[in-house]
Amino acid sequence: MGTASIADVNLDEKYGPFINGEVGEPANGYIDAINAANGKLLAKIGRGGQEDVDRAVKAANAAFKDWSNTLIEERSALLHKIADTLEANQERLKMIECMDTGRAIHEFDLDYQLAVYQFRYFASAILTYEGTSRPVQNGHLITKKEPLGVCAQIIPWNVPMIMTAFKLAPALAAGNTLVLKPAEDACLSIMEFAKLLADILPKGVVNVVPGYGTEAGQALIDHPNVHKLAFTGSVEVGRLVGKTAGERILPVTLELGGKAPHIVFPDVDIDRAVENATLGYTFFNGESCILGTRLLIHDDIYDEFIEKLIARAKEIKIGDPTDRSTRLASLINEKQGKRVLGYFDIARKEGAKILYGGNRVTVPGNEHGYFIEPTIIEAEPHMRIAQEEIFGPAATVTRWRDVDEVIEMANDVEYGLAAGIMTEDLEKALDTANKLEAGSVWINSYFNFQSGAPFGGYKNSGVGREYSQEALDHYTQSKTIVAAYQLPPA
Ligand code: NAD
Repeated sequence: MGTASIADVNLDEKYGPFINGEVGEPANGYIDAINAANGKLLAKIGRGGQEDVDRAVKAANAAFKDWSNTLIEERSALLHKIADTLEANQERLKMIECMDTGRAIHEFDLDYQLAVYQFRYFASAILTYEGTSRPVQNGHLITKKEPLGVCAQIIPWNVPMIMTAFKLAPALAAGNTLVLKPAEDACLSIMEFAKLLADILPKGVVNVVPGYGTEAGQALIDHPNVHKLAFTGSVEVGRLVGKTAGERILPVTLELGGKAPHIVFPDVDIDRAVENATLGYTFFNGESCILGTRLLIHDDIYDEFIEKLIARAKEIKIGDPTDRSTRLASLINEKQGKRVLGYFDIARKEGAKILYGGNRVTVPGNEHGYFIEPTIIEAEPHMRIAQEEIFGPAATVTRWRDVDEVIEMANDVEYGLAAGIMTEDLEKALDTANKLEAGSVWINSYFNFQSGAPFGGYKNSGVGREYSQEALDHYTQSKTIVAAYQLPPA
């Protein structure tokens, strides 16, 4: 199936909270959902609050007993059905998400592939996620994995369907029910997806309450009847979620920011390395925590690499997000646009040099949007521009000479979500990878996601791992049962 046209998208006028298998009226009215590029009203989304969260948590608790007792074969089959349904509806959902986020339509092929894989992976993984059983002296030992209960899951706006799949698939596979709070800035694809789930899952197993973080989000994490907190977003809100979990002794997983180093050794094929580096800092519009935004380039090839990196940046087509040939499109909103441009001012003030880009571009018909040029900034490693997450299509470039020096440079940030290495010397690559403080290290292939590979962060990038079997550990608790055949003699 080809790309859906805007006309095919056919959105509802309003999207209230999805609770107990139905879309209802929100207690606090609606928020406008705006096309990020052209500013037109797409639909209205519910402004969820305490009352909606109460109803959603109640529905999830009521559904838990039956859902947690379904056979794993049944849950597995339902997860496959979710994957099939997502796949069958993907072209329409991709176009909705493209308009909602402002990101280029072609990127969503990867987003939806990852999301579909995620449901299929956990449909299979749950079938082999077993406890143990063995005879012990005069009896038997059983260890088993039990679901936690109702999971409160909060996600950001940058990759809504990937984030939803990362959260829903392991939680459902493990037998939990959940309340998802998508981001107020982009959640239309998720609200549409929830309606599709109504035909697949029993009522109350998945509930989705849209709204603001300080209202719906806060009410959800503070709710006394949730049993697990899972959050993806900023470090600032992540700390708050972690603190709440600590106070209430709840299990928590946090996927937070990133500022990934991408190390270029001097033995690389420069043209290929430039292509990989460009993908690594511009994909997802630059709005992703995993991007390789700190390019650390060996001195011997630095000048040629930079020349080619700039030439490649000039070729990137900035345009309407719904055009398949567009490679960079609009940032999510004005706030994010101003934040990114503000970082370029900070860079200039601290003495960094903008080698290319740094400006907002106007795309006809999309004057509302913040389209930003791919931006290459020569910076010292300690500068804020090289330390803080920008969340826009920008990379800093810095020279290095000595391997120990570059490893130190790479690790000298508060984050540790991902890192990249480019070299033809696998021994050097693996040795460097072992020394990097990062949850994922991609050698010669930036963000090379593989199903089943743990994804999560070191340091301030978070706690816990998603995308892999480990996620099932985060959505279950172990029970040990020791059975003696007889009572001990009196
Ligand atoms: P954010 O932390 O402001 O918001 C994320 C989510 O949390 C939203 O749904 C928001 O409504 C909600 N929220 C906000 N305040 C809340 C509160 N007080 N209580 C409960 N929920 C609240 O982040 P953002 O600006 O939407 O997203 C960008 C950030 O997310 C970046 O820092 C980025 O690095 C991070 N991110 C991380 C990953 C990852 O996998 N590690 C993925 C995507 C984005």
